[in-house]
Amino acid sequence: MALKIYNTLTKSKEEFKPIHPGKVGMYVCGPTVYDYLHPGNLRSYMTADVLRRYLEYHGYEVRMIKNITDVGHLTEDSIGQGDSGEDKISKKAQIERKTPRQIADFFEEYFHAAEKKINIKKASFFPRATEHIQQMIKIISSLIEKGYAYEVNGNVFFDVTKFSTYGNLSGNTLDNLKVGARLEEHPDKKNPWDFALWLKAPKEHLMKWESPWSVGYPGWHIECSAMSMEYLGDTMDIHAGGEDNIFPHHEAEIAQSEGYSGKKFVNFWVHTRFLLTDGKKMSKSKGNFFTLEELEEKGYTSMALRLLFLSGHHRTQLNFTWPALDQATTNFQKISEWANNLKSIESRGAGSRVSMGEEIDFSHIYQKRFEAAMDDDLNTPLALAVLYELITETNKLIAEEKLSAATAKNIFNFWEKINKVLGLAIADREEIPKEIIKLAEARKTARENKDFAKSDELREKISEFGYEIDDSKNNNYTIKKK
Ligand code: AMP
Ligand code: ZN
Repeated sequence: MALKIYNTLTKSKEEFKPIHPGKVGMYVCGPTVYDYLHPGNLRSYMTADVLRRYLEYHGYEVRMIKNITDVGHLTEDSIGQGDSGEDKISKKAQIERKTPRQIADFFEEYFHAAEKKINIKKASFFPRATEHIQQMIKIISSLIEKGYAYEVNGNVFFDVTKFSTYGNLSGNTLDNLKVGARLEEHPDKKNPWDFALWLKAPKEHLMKWESPWSVGYPGWHIECSAMSMEYLGDTMDIHAGGEDNIFPHHEAEIAQSEGYSGKKFVNFWVHTRFLLTDGKKMSKSKGNFFTLEELEEKGYTSMALRLLFLSGHHRTQLNFTWPALDQATTNFQKISEWANNLKSIESRGAGSRVSMGEEIDFSHIYQKRFEAAMDDDLNTPLALAVLYELITETNKLIAEEKLSAATAKNIFNFWEKINKVLGLAIADREEIPKEIIKLAEARKTARENKDFAKSDELREKISEFGYEIDDSKNNNYTIKKK
């Protein structure tokens, strides 16, 4: 395998090499469970899903960790260091007159259901932030001991001036921050660009824990450092998320984790650019989103959305439009129809004496091209173009009655292999029962022998079973359910 992935840290495409041969450790920043998941979130998760699937295609054993943020993500996450405002889940709980736990549980369940709908493979583990508070406290204590962090009035902050490579991921070095950043001043911060590791909880706060500094709650960034190192070790192969995670979230994760372990935190940083609606980021806080259920009510499927996402490169922003989803729906139907046709030609061939055309295996040519596209930073639009070309070529052979059952089988096997990467769940056209195929083959023999009385009798019999035969050239036929 010669997979090259664009690494946000080095700003170049690099050949992927795992830390341990044959194994890959991968962390994806999961949802903050205070609202319905939207297609923008799903686009980011899908990049990680396709990357994981492609690594598995090449035989890697992938351990994927996707966290559930059920505390600590504050409302003002687009200002400064993302550590001001109210807890998003607590705020929702107040509005809905529920407990934060009820809110988190409800939207966590919804998140799993949405991932399933769009055929994202389950992560190996979905750790919850609230169940890893002790690991966070351990890291924060160590950061204070090492001089990277300080405590004031029960709040603990990371002192970014102590971490010399701060800013390497996002370009937000201290010098740049000093010049242009919009920063929220916290009275206890030494420098406005320091970020919170632990915050003292106000009395009315429902989610709070004992700690050496105060009864409080963790900062958003420390959660991902704690959970990723807990399950993948100090250094992991891949860390993924959406482009908004680069700063401050991932920049802070690097500072905390490397400050704590003294080792490199992540080898490959993979970021998905935004899904937009009307040129703006689709987001929960803007409310410019829809759910998969709303999509279904309009008559669309999650698989069409999956195909729409695959048709754009993850490092290019994608503007969601309804005509684009219409196009993806048509393309999905085309792929489904093609795959089902291949399958029925293949199964008919099993009992057939006369085959249409010679066996030719051209799938390996397409396989090479598919892999070349995927190897180039997961170029899914190009990989799909290769697939569409194959569909055109095979459909032409089918129309000319030159596609043998053996060739259909080769191509179908190839399709099944690459679809493990694309993850398009295609409904099987109803299988034609073997008895019906036998009758159809007997009828074909009768027609070849010009025994039309028998041929008509067999057609009648097949019809009684609820199937219909369409004859085509050279005594070939297709069977349909009536
Ligand atoms: P959140 O639940 O808001 O923390 O987001 C969960 C994940 O979805 C994060 O990795 C975000 O970067 C990602 N994300 C959120 N909105 C979008 C969007 N419009 N396009 C792509 N990724 C997004
Ligand atoms: Zn995270």
